Amino acid sequence: MTKFWSEMAKRAEPYVPGEQINKENIIKLNTNENPYPPSPHVITAITNEVGNNLRLYPSPTMEGLRTTIAAYYNVTKENVFVGNGSDEVLAFSFMGFFDPGKTILFPDITYSFYPVYAQVFDIAYKTIPLQADFTMDVEAFFNSEGGVIFPNPNAPTSLYLGLDDIEAIVEHNEDNIVVVDEAYIDFATESAVSLTKKYDNLLVIQTMSKSRALAGLRIGFVIGNEELIAALIRMKDSFNSYPVDRLALAGATTAIQDDDYFQWTTQKIITTRERTRQTLTSLGFHVLPSAANFVFATHETMPAKALYEQLRERDILIRYFGTEPIENYVRISIGTDEEMDMFIEAVTEIIER
Ligand code: PMP
Repeated sequence: MTKFWSEMAKRAEPYVPGEQINKENIIKLNTNENPYPPSPHVITAITNEVGNNLRLYPSPTMEGLRTTIAAYYNVTKENVFVGNGSDEVLAFSFMGFFDPGKTILFPDITYSFYPVYAQVFDIAYKTIPLQADFTMDVEAFFNSEGGVIFPNPNAPTSLYLGLDDIEAIVEHNEDNIVVVDEAYIDFATESAVSLTKKYDNLLVIQTMSKSRALAGLRIGFVIGNEELIAALIRMKDSFNSYPVDRLALAGATTAIQDDDYFQWTTQKIITTRERTRQTLTSLGFHVLPSAANFVFATHETMPAKALYEQLRERDILIRYFGTEPIENYVRISIGTDEEMDMFIEAVTEIIER
């Protein structure tokens, strides 16, 4: 730190993502990426764009992609905002809807980027402890002073909160925005998008990084009331007119259009997840009922840290957080069936040693 840093730069406590190791033959189950490639049509669309249009700026209004997303979710393009990954969209949401001096609420075990944004934008926050079974205490989110944000399914717990509970939180925060971060919703049951038509204080954020296998392309989007979307557009246009490049716009539009491929890969991941959960349970793990593309688990005798370290020695990466009260849990992203077989084989050897 030097005297030249702004107060904002001094205050920042940057987010640390899961390890990205550049090594061949590693089994990477630590950042919830999709184990399957994106739709082949996506690759064609990006290649065409590379061949023809890189000389030109992308559309600052992103109308094409917004219209495609709107049609898919049965809303209008005025209800859709697109950004460079949902992380950027989350940052714009903090800028657009939360004010310094008004405390916002989020769960104590949740996506660890929320406190980072709160810190950098100087937003006061209070964390609401999860209950003993890691479910959210819904009523504790009622009547916030400055707004509410949480992922559904929650991360890293993988637990899904039903739409009735979400609606209750939205109804009991009528003067504030409730942001539901649905990064993993496609592996769950029902999205809260339908509720955005009924409530003008609900924003639903999704990403193409997980279920559409495009983490490297960086596309996140928001669905909500037109006036909320207008605030996000103001934030974007006060920051960067073109945060989403041409390749990303072309690839993401095609990914939404190729619904068959999306349904097929998503279903495969769900099937593998359920099989993994059953096998881990039979090996003495307690595995939370997951509605995401990862499972959150603890073993009755094997400490989580030792398991994480011993898997790492075998070039299998999972996520270990090491913080209370989840210091004995690991988060395991769902890979292909072959990857999960190798993971289970290694886990079995480690716990039987
Ligand atoms: N929200 C949650 C809950 C996440 O786990 C992630 C992935 N790290 C994100 C948002 C951000 O995803 P992306 O920026 O890749 O869209």
